Amino acid sequence: MVAGPERAVKPSPSLFWPDANQEYTTQDMHELAVTQSIIEIVNRHAEQASATHVARIHLVVGELSSIVDDSVQFYFDYLSEGTACAGAELVFRRVQVQLECRECGATWQPEGADWRCPTCGLARARVAEGREFYVDSIEIEET
Ligand SMILES: [Zn+2]
Repeated sequence: MVAGPERAVKPSPSLFWPDANQEYTTQDMHELAVTQSIIEIVNRHAEQASATHVARIHLVVGELSSIVDDSVQFYFDYLSEGTACAGAELVFRRVQVQLECRECGATWQPEGADWRCPTCGLARARVAEGREFYVDSIEIEET
């Protein structure tokens, strides 16, 4: 069974903070929050499907989302304990940055920091792809 995609919305960290006195960096908080969100989304879908175990979770991660796979995996192992997600395999799919020119509508993949449009030369690009982070699909084991 496959569900999704669903965007991982960042909940307030205070809702599930394991130890308020412990120091975390901003980056840690970011991944802790999004991992918690992933688990909530997946467990909700698993419950709706009456599944007791999730085998695999497919995640789509944009290059600009600043999500580190290893950190998500670390928090996932910790936070998923005792839920339908426990032991599930995380599969990350990286999405390259794609820009779109607001002027002429051209789309391209930038190299380095130069985001000028290769077609019209203007620097009026917007990020069309590459910021996303969401649960693409979930595989559950039939029991
Ligand atoms: Zn252009």
